[in-house]
Amino acid sequence: MNISVPLERKVALVTGSTSGIGLAIGRMLAANGADVALNGFASSEEIAAIENDIGKETGRRAKHFGHDLSNLKEAGDLVGAVTAALGRVDILVNNAGAQHLADIDEFPDEQWQRLIAINLTAAFATTRAVWPQMKERGWGRIINTASTLAFTAEARKSGYVATKHGILGLTREAALEGAQLGITCNAVCPAWVLTPLVAKQVEAKADELQYSFDEAARNYFLTDMPTRRFVETDEIAAGVLFLCSDAAKSITGIALPIDGGSLVI
Ligand code: NAD
Repeated sequence: MNISVPLERKVALVTGSTSGIGLAIGRMLAANGADVALNGFASSEEIAAIENDIGKETGRRAKHFGHDLSNLKEAGDLVGAVTAALGRVDILVNNAGAQHLADIDEFPDEQWQRLIAINLTAAFATTRAVWPQMKERGWGRIINTASTLAFTAEARKSGYVATKHGILGLTREAALEGAQLGITCNAVCPAWVLTPLVAKQVEAKADELQYSFDEAARNYFLTDMPTRRFVETDEIAAGVLFLCSDAAKSITGIALPIDGGSLVI
């Protein structure tokens, strides 16, 4: 994707960047000159391959941190570990996310707590931890990956929808507190992107309706999308990249849908 923002000498921490949207964001920020701290789960071979590929493709440092964001303390500690290893954190992308589908009366306690912890509390913990250094330098970019489900709802997703609505509140709060400090905080709101998180849902729907994967995607998921196609991970990364630019310095507290028009219908 041909979009360019100079990020030399910046360090970006992207949570949940071992796959899907976060990985695309990490790659794009590195391609524009930032050193990147990666985070998320994968095998040690996969992680080494991601670090090497980004390093080779971009010439930037790409280093993985295995902190488990379902734990508030580990989420806060992640910022300190990245700062110790890479020197600073200028850009924080709170992207890690988890999903669980169940009717509200059957939604398990532990899944509710897990979604709140990963999708919402971790973003608070990293934001709080990174704030002093961004404030000191008078420059910071915080971008939270929300969802179109930050505006709407979908049956069987009470934990996810509640956390995605919540992350917009945190985004607006940080925008307000950062407004005179040179820190912007915004959210990007994707509709369906075909990542492992969504592939699992398409597979489950295909099984339930006796569809092929493609039929389930076309007849169930893409009917939400006026474009009738999934949003690509790079399209979300491009939105994040723009929000990191100096051109976006007066854009703060927004929730940017990148959704193929799905919120229109
Ligand atoms: P994904 O499953 O490909 O990636 C999720 C990432 O989060 C992975 O790197 C995973 O290892 C990491 N992660 C999960 N639990 C973690 C934990 N406890 N600690 C640290 N890392 C953890 O999914 P994705 O679709 O790329 O999702 C990325 C973000 O985009 C999520 O916040 C998701 O809610 C949001 N989103 C996705 C879509 C979509 O259609 N795919 C739509 C709207 C919003």
